[in-house]
Amino acid sequence: MMIGTTDLTGIDKEIDSVLRSFIAVNSETGTAGEKNCEAFLTEYLASIPYFQKNKEHFGSYAVSEDPLQRAVCWGLVRGRGASTVVLIHHYDVVGIEDFKNLKEFAFQPDSLEKALKNISEELHPEAREDLLSGDYLFGRGSADMKAGGAIQLALLKRYSECKELEGNVLLLSLPDEENLSAGMRAAVDLLDELKEQHGLHYIYGFNSEPHQRKADGRGLLSEGSVGKILAFVYVRGFLSHVGKVFEGLNPVPLLSEIVADTELSPLFSDWVNGEAAPPPTWLNLQDRKETYDVSMPLGAGGCISILTLDSDPMHALKLLHTSAENSFEKVIDRMNRSYKEFCRRTGRNAETLPWKPLVMTYAELLDEAAMNCGEDFQKIYADERKAIEKRIKEGELDFIEGTYLMTELLLHSISDLSPRVILGFVPPYYPNVSNFLLKDLTSEQRLLADRVSRFSLEKYGVEYEKESYYTGISDLSYLSLKDSRGIQSELEKDTPLYGGAYSIPLEKIEALSMPCVNIGPWGKDFHKLTERVFKPDLYVQTPALLDYAIRLILQQEKS
Ligand SMILES: [Zn+2]
Repeated sequence: MMIGTTDLTGIDKEIDSVLRSFIAVNSETGTAGEKNCEAFLTEYLASIPYFQKNKEHFGSYAVSEDPLQRAVCWGLVRGRGASTVVLIHHYDVVGIEDFKNLKEFAFQPDSLEKALKNISEELHPEAREDLLSGDYLFGRGSADMKAGGAIQLALLKRYSECKELEGNVLLLSLPDEENLSAGMRAAVDLLDELKEQHGLHYIYGFNSEPHQRKADGRGLLSEGSVGKILAFVYVRGFLSHVGKVFEGLNPVPLLSEIVADTELSPLFSDWVNGEAAPPPTWLNLQDRKETYDVSMPLGAGGCISILTLDSDPMHALKLLHTSAENSFEKVIDRMNRSYKEFCRRTGRNAETLPWKPLVMTYAELLDEAAMNCGEDFQKIYADERKAIEKRIKEGELDFIEGTYLMTELLLHSISDLSPRVILGFVPPYYPNVSNFLLKDLTSEQRLLADRVSRFSLEKYGVEYEKESYYTGISDLSYLSLKDSRGIQSELEKDTPLYGGAYSIPLEKIEALSMPCVNIGPWGKDFHKLTERVFKPDLYVQTPALLDYAIRLILQQEKS
């Protein structure tokens, strides 16, 4: 079957002009700057004749209860039938700390290029070579991911000019991807509403995050995205004076033991289809002492980031539970040996120390506190939680600190003082998604990435490899889901701050579940000063590949 293609003549100029204006809007993630992108995007969409005629086909959709009042910008080009592809990109960018004294040029590719040439000796040789080649566009957001965004916007405009479009194209431009993905989580509600209003049937999702090219020049298409779990471990010890160490249990060595046992542990790294999740790493570690004195700390907390390919939060919690128990035993054993030696030297009788391993989930601790405190507890707990959520919204606390405070509230509410380890989760949570996990895909959906790769090889001589997961973490995580109920109940139980200041419309995601692929331009040094995107991809190849894929999937739905 012949695939109808779009006339892409001159799209390079359109992409270039959109991208430069897009980069010029400083939309650092988590700042008021993100709001400026909304104005830019709305103006762009409003300038397209199709949307002037069809005003109800584009708009901005507010992220509810967002302190920065950000919104998802969207545009829907309607063709024949219900089949709809969804294009997503994020409009926020990471901060510019890395630019040091070149900050003023971060959002102006041409001036930045000049400024970088002045310091080219200081750059990494590969970056210097790319800079001098003229083949790359530099600037914050150039690769990650306003390039992908500009390509999608320019393509949407082309589709809006098509007389006979098979199917529909919906574009979503999202805030907050680099932070908590508030944009994509809100976009799930928008997808649901548009589906009802316009009778849409979503058949495929496309993201255009940049890809990193392999050494042999091959590109990369990702048919899914890794999941990300942030788990917390809170250790409550037993306080004592530093002169009476055997009367207490210091939570710091116990937490350290758990950290050493789990950091980069292959046990936590899912392994699927020859791909492995990068092993976990600790993002936060602290004792909970507020000031210095000669007592050991009473509590210590840490957060571990776990990337997943096909496992869920329940699985991560089980692994952490095992590690915490083993670590607890190890630490008690070590304490007993030290105590024995200390007693031998001082001529005392050594008794076994009283400590026993105790590991529990947040939900179990909550039950214990409720039993202990009786009737008033639920109200106190709810009020305290609201107060913490309010402080988070106002930017006074982050989710990690809020989670420790919630845990400490419970620890103050129980009467059993035994040292213990408490396990649970901290927002955000990204489900793992991959097309091969989805049942009932059509052969067209299943083979899309292969066909795009073949098209690229024939047309441009560039081969694309497939991977089942984008490991950079992306908003694709919210385009499909299995077992929403199981995950929902686990998150509600063991995430102290799930439901109020942070939630995910898991059931809706499961209902909307669509296969997805990331087709984006080649880029390098994301989040760094020398972030850059490869011009031939940006202007020519990626738009052609993306257009080919969109046309393929929409037309095959018809046949
Ligand atoms: Zn990105």
